[in-house]
Amino acid sequence: MLEKATHVLKQYFGYTAFRQGQDGIIENVLNANDTLAIMPTGGGKSICYQVPAMMFDGVTIVISPLISLMKDQVDALINIGIPATYINSTLTRQELNDRIAEAKEGAYKLIYIAPERLESSDFQQLLQRLHISLVAIDEAHCISQWGHDFRPSYRHISTFLQALDKLPVVIALTATATTEVKDDICDLLHIDSSHTFVTGFARENLSFTVVKGENKRDYITKYISANKASSGIIYAGTRKEVDQLYAYFERSGASIGKYHAGMSEQERKDMQEKFIYDDISIMVATNAFGMGINKSNVRYVLHYNLPKNMEAYYQEAGRAGRDGEESDCVVLFSPQDIQLQKFLIEQTLLNPERKANEYQKLQQMIDYCHTERCLQLYILEYFGETDGQTCGKCGNCTDARETIDITTEAQMVFSCIKRMNERFGKTIVAQVLKGSRNKRVIEQQFHTLPTYGLLSKYSEKEIVEMIDYFVAEQYLVATEGQYPVLMIGNKAYQVLKGNEKVYKKQKQKAKRLTTHNELFERLRALRKDISTEERVPPYVVFADSALREMSEQAPLNEQAMLSIKGVGKVKFERYGTQFLQEIKTYAAEHDIKATEDIPTEVQSKSNDHVSDIENENPSHILSYQLFIAGEAIEDIAKKRSMSQITIQNHIIRSATEGNEIEWERIINPTHEDQIITKIEELGAEKLKPLKESLPEEVDYFAIKAVICKMHLAK
Ligand code: ADP
Repeated sequence: MLEKATHVLKQYFGYTAFRQGQDGIIENVLNANDTLAIMPTGGGKSICYQVPAMMFDGVTIVISPLISLMKDQVDALINIGIPATYINSTLTRQELNDRIAEAKEGAYKLIYIAPERLESSDFQQLLQRLHISLVAIDEAHCISQWGHDFRPSYRHISTFLQALDKLPVVIALTATATTEVKDDICDLLHIDSSHTFVTGFARENLSFTVVKGENKRDYITKYISANKASSGIIYAGTRKEVDQLYAYFERSGASIGKYHAGMSEQERKDMQEKFIYDDISIMVATNAFGMGINKSNVRYVLHYNLPKNMEAYYQEAGRAGRDGEESDCVVLFSPQDIQLQKFLIEQTLLNPERKANEYQKLQQMIDYCHTERCLQLYILEYFGETDGQTCGKCGNCTDARETIDITTEAQMVFSCIKRMNERFGKTIVAQVLKGSRNKRVIEQQFHTLPTYGLLSKYSEKEIVEMIDYFVAEQYLVATEGQYPVLMIGNKAYQVLKGNEKVYKKQKQKAKRLTTHNELFERLRALRKDISTEERVPPYVVFADSALREMSEQAPLNEQAMLSIKGVGKVKFERYGTQFLQEIKTYAAEHDIKATEDIPTEVQSKSNDHVSDIENENPSHILSYQLFIAGEAIEDIAKKRSMSQITIQNHIIRSATEGNEIEWERIINPTHEDQIITKIEELGAEKLKPLKESLPEEVDYFAIKAVICKMHLAK
């Protein structure tokens, strides 16, 4: 039987052999067994029903969730000589009847339909007239509430099948392999679980990488300019982010399109078409883009934000390299993104059990970003394949950094968590180990613990990174929920007892410039220009030592720049951008990566006073988060040891970047109109004349806020 199937494969599809798993599935279907086939995106699911469709007598009904794709799928089949058609809401009643009549006469081997059709009993009756030998249910996870794309209409499939006079063979196909989803599909479609095939999750032509601690836009800029000739997808977490990235990269001349559910159908269609036809090389999109996109020459998939779980990630990443050519899948990790995903989970109306499940899956995605083991193997194990090999080409397999013994540090971390009774999250654990005088640490009496300050030689950020690593490697367990609590896992007890050692890759040193002279000279020239323009001596702009340090460290973002001695907030605000720009230009020309090591003092200065918020948020966002949590400017300033004006500027900057603000907390409504009138009269360039023309009680903060609000309303 398989021989005949191989013949069909060759005859129609031009392939010489089945891929791993396809043969077993096809054989099972040909033996008239209802089958569940689980394969990764790009693994070759379609063949598993298209080949049997050509071998069975009657017609095969393919239930597929996407109307937009049906035409392409059908065109592709007709193109290779397989008679196929589709029936969906785009047809007139007449066309529908014609197609059913033609089908009855045996004109088609495959008919694609949308699940929504099955809700109509009229349509079900029409189908009764056909001799249906096989029903293929594509994206079958849509039937399960546990899946990531639950579709109520998928629940009608079972009723439809039961109503048929003669039961056809059923094949359900999906890339989702979690136990809940598998069980649901088998239950709801009455598939015997012994006929489940999970197969070939390894995509050998894909190289996986997780990038941490780099400026994401700079990374992408370099990446796309090094891969100009290739097609790629950049996934971002929100529509707003997609719009911003699109605008940013379009301005820099990239051949780019965008796609998200907030755009009109026509716009989306145009963009998709341009991408598919290689009129544009890059598509920046939310996860609305790509389900079933069959473009085979996608060379890379970059994730600008953390995906919500491994299923979603592997499905999106799997859109790279369908043609089997070497392709890249990169996650650009930043801890802030975890907040977005948690927020999205909180926004859902899921019951507590399902919420906990979502949190657990998110944690496994986070662990993927922190593990140092082979990423391909991590994925395979996640999907239940236990006999995989290390891939030898992912970011971790090719990471040549030295491995160091961190058993002592691990024991300190584990014992500290134990002494805190396994009731706290990573931020405060790190603070205790660092020896922070943070209010919460003192209130809880943690400064009296013997583990207090044991890791003071590390920065808080470094301790948090270690903890993330321990969670990823299952020494520690992070509880499910919005604020995970750390607990000791079994593996950690072995380490505490001294039975097992812990190793970790050494922290990457930033690539330092060996020849700083050229950059130094360029920065000096810039300083000269500024000095001439502002009529101040060059050293007043920046001291030589600051320029030298910049030329050695090549800071590529604000945070790194602020860690240079001689670059304070005010200096940064005045000149920072121009100098950063010069360094970036130089770095791009010389392929220099962002400086990762930000001196400890700088980090702890900005983080020490903030307890519950993720460590790596930019400074202004930390202030903003405290502000929206209801704290007064004065209190935030005290907490963060910063001036009130700095905090006010942080809030305004956050608002400018599109974060929600309760303006009434800053602008007294009785003054707003007056301020607007004065701004219209005097302009917004200078604040002092505005302040002087307004009543005494109107402060600068309110004026700045009104200017910002007016600007945003434009
Ligand atoms: P999925 O639906 O699992 O995402 P597809 O069915 O679209 O994947 O198949 C992905 C690609 O692999 C397609 O271009 C398909 O033609 C190709 N393919 C499938 N099976 C084989 C095979 N046996 N040999 C070579 N290429 C194959």
